[in-house]
Amino acid sequence: SLVDGGTRRMIERRSALLGPSYRLQYSRPVHPVRAKGTRLWDASGEELLDAYNNVPCVGHANERVVRAMSDQLSMINTNTRYLQDEVVAYAEALLSTFHPALNRAMFVCTGSEANDLAVRVARQVTGQNGIIASQFAYHGNTSLVSSFSPAGGPGTILDRDVRLVPAPDSYRMRGIDLGEWFAAQVQAQIDDLASRGVGLAAFIVDGVFSTDGIHPADDGVLRRAAEVVRRAGGLFILDEVQSGFGRTGDHLWGYERFGILPDLVTLGKPMANGLPVAGVVGQWDLFEDFGARVPYFNTFGGGNACIAAAHEVLNIVQDSGVLSNVATQGRRLRGEMERILSRAGRATDVRGAGLYIGVEFSRSDPALTPDPQVTGQVVDGMREEGVLISAAGPNGNVLKIRPPLVFDDADADRFLSSFERVVRRVGV
Ligand code: PMP
Repeated sequence: SLVDGGTRRMIERRSALLGPSYRLQYSRPVHPVRAKGTRLWDASGEELLDAYNNVPCVGHANERVVRAMSDQLSMINTNTRYLQDEVVAYAEALLSTFHPALNRAMFVCTGSEANDLAVRVARQVTGQNGIIASQFAYHGNTSLVSSFSPAGGPGTILDRDVRLVPAPDSYRMRGIDLGEWFAAQVQAQIDDLASRGVGLAAFIVDGVFSTDGIHPADDGVLRRAAEVVRRAGGLFILDEVQSGFGRTGDHLWGYERFGILPDLVTLGKPMANGLPVAGVVGQWDLFEDFGARVPYFNTFGGGNACIAAAHEVLNIVQDSGVLSNVATQGRRLRGEMERILSRAGRATDVRGAGLYIGVEFSRSDPALTPDPQVTGQVVDGMREEGVLISAAGPNGNVLKIRPPLVFDDADADRFLSSFERVVRRVGV
């Protein structure tokens, strides 16, 4: 086995102490003990290139974020029961990046909580219970949110008022009007709910369909679906927990790429570069009814120190050319990977938006049978090269490449030379 004695002992200690639900990544698990920017160092001192972690969006151990958080923590750290300068200043800055109609924010700690709150608001506003999500969606791990997160694992129990639609898969459905097709899928589920007397509360979708296999839903694919949802009286919740804060390049928010205006947008993961900050943004009148009846309190959500970190992340993403870097590096990585893969006979598809990239591997048969084995070999091969990526999709046959947004030219060079070597070695 590739796993050395020290690592094996660490794995044993861990599994003797922690609940068994946690899963380690890679055949040879990574044990990073220090990180900076796009680099991690493991316990043996090996340097790893991070092409996977979206949370440290402005780089691991970012000094500006660390300082903002620790300065605030040593001054005061309380909650939304008190007047706080930080949460108000941050809300002002954050909302100024959204369409003027999206003019209220609520802060929580995790993406799961953000989606939980968004769906509670949607059910309250509409007075309806139905939820439509994508077939292999993941929106989080609360009891409510897991009830519309089929990618949460085989133990997931979907709510009986939840319906699913297939993701708009531009690889497997070439030559059809995906927007039209997707809207028809959503309509069919609205009709099915209605036939059982259930109205639509919300359609919730991840802006990059990550767990569905990374489908960037470009070219207005979601526009018609949004119309269908509104016509049925439901809210359109865009889950930007992964796709927000510039991940998809050029824009801060995915909905700008889609040409739609969602009713509620949920945020999380990269929001404070590793501290638990998440949120829901929406119109005042959507929150009004809920706010009148539910005195929502979240002990840590909106706390000064985490919010100070979030504000600094937003400053950095807005100030320092991050968005154009994401667009440029994303284009380059996709183009070069396409070139590397085009020399091989295997059926592959390179897709994505900005620095959220998927590379699908299938067999070269007419059905394009998914090839999770080769995908896993590439993931482990990259790990052996010291480059962290992973795999996604219902069949685990799509490389998930999602580095910090500050991934630069040198990082891309290193990534691509490793990728080329691994692809040759695996025989893709
Ligand atoms: N939505 C999406 C699209 C996610 O990817 C995730 C986390 N993977 C969540 C929600 C849940 O976020 P958290 O783990 O912070 O609860």
